[in-house]
Amino acid sequence: MKTLFDKIWDRHTILVRPDGATLLHVGRHLIHDGSRAGFRALAAKGLPLRSPERTFGTPDHYVSTASHDVNAIPEPQRREMVTAMTENQKQHGFTMFGLGDKRQGIVHVIGPEQGITQPGLLMVCGDSHTATHGALGALAFGIGASEVSHVLATQTLWQSRKPKSMRITVDGTLPPGVTPKDVIIAIIARIGAAGGTGHVIEYAGEVFRAMSMEGRLTVCNMSIEAGARAGMVAPDETTYAYLQGRPYTPSGADWPKALDYWRKLPSDPGAIFDVEHRLNGAEMAPMATWGTSPEHAAPVTGHIPDPARAATAEQRGAYERALAYMDLKPGMRIDEIPIDRVFIGSCTNSRIEDLREAAAVAKGRTAKVPTMVVAGSGLVKLQAESEGLHTIFKQAGFDWREPGCSMCVGMNGDLVGAGEHCASTSNRNFVGRQGRGARTHLVSPAMAAAAAVTGHITDVRRLMAGEAA
Ligand code: SF4
Repeated sequence: MKTLFDKIWDRHTILVRPDGATLLHVGRHLIHDGSRAGFRALAAKGLPLRSPERTFGTPDHYVSTASHDVNAIPEPQRREMVTAMTENQKQHGFTMFGLGDKRQGIVHVIGPEQGITQPGLLMVCGDSHTATHGALGALAFGIGASEVSHVLATQTLWQSRKPKSMRITVDGTLPPGVTPKDVIIAIIARIGAAGGTGHVIEYAGEVFRAMSMEGRLTVCNMSIEAGARAGMVAPDETTYAYLQGRPYTPSGADWPKALDYWRKLPSDPGAIFDVEHRLNGAEMAPMATWGTSPEHAAPVTGHIPDPARAATAEQRGAYERALAYMDLKPGMRIDEIPIDRVFIGSCTNSRIEDLREAAAVAKGRTAKVPTMVVAGSGLVKLQAESEGLHTIFKQAGFDWREPGCSMCVGMNGDLVGAGEHCASTSNRNFVGRQGRGARTHLVSPAMAAAAAVTGHITDVRRLMAGEAA
């Protein structure tokens, strides 16, 4: 009786050392414009790229979302990260979706979009949110800089120990206005930002079976925010329908062979997980974070907790520090938190469904605060424009940008000002993540649009019911 995780791990194991360390074969290596050090390490050792045909890259972290002219990147060192990637592509011959290519985008958006991400693969990328790809039933690890150079040189990855397995089952039907982003924030609020440490999470149950692929990508993306090594959803008909016909998906006679393999991947009935959690989707509500950890979250109908009532002294201290940084008071209603700026984008929420959700709220309304919308890829941007979503955003006063990581990470010129509260669809609300002194509130795209048109965290269900902003 094996789990989905066991099956992929076993299939990619090359050898196990006596101390338990395992050498794994890497099926796909995704790279971005932070990969320069890895290629420098290759050059220093005089090594070629081991598997160009398994290596796929795109610039995303450092690119300007105002213009995709490389000269629009103001800092020379960051511009050089992007140009170095182009030079490395010429030298090593990996597949690259560069600036000017409509397929360029955030690395975790283009992998699934191109069909590079597939069930049963072991995938890595030098970025924490590589867990995203588990939505398609892949085992996907974020890796560090030295591991990137090891994978470039050998197409293998050492893991000192096999992670444990965790299953999070969410049954029931999500109420209207509750999105995949709310589900994953609610999970992290329940199990804690360290709740998944050392584990690979499999998301199971009625809510995930009914969820679109795009929603599953959002959920798996934030697995790392629960401390997990990876997050996965077992492949099913939703997965196969999503993948069929994509550029790098098996086709012709290979398609039924791939399907045959993929259908064997889901966890066997009776497979044992090291840890199990259960939540009821029917009880969930739109969520927002109030602090500096993704576990500092509450339903939009709730209140900021009082540190004095925290379960432990450690938690009390964390709450006090978070509230001091965020300049918020215990007991305050979540929907009274003022918002100075809104960001809709990032590898968590920049796909077409996310933009549709935000546009449905923005339609016919006007932004009260500066709001930026950044599609996850050139193809998402084109799709949104073909549906007229960009017109809705522009008429609402939102800023419609070029694809990239943008304000998720604050290293490309898109910044939240010191002291500003930003309702953001990204994945991290750490101190300074979106800029020095920035105060981030993680929300869904619909909630972000609601905050944009009201100037404070707002229960999007009110606007969905037709209430004025
Ligand atoms: S959008 Fe943010 S989390 Fe995602 S890859 Fe870019 S920097 Fe990393």
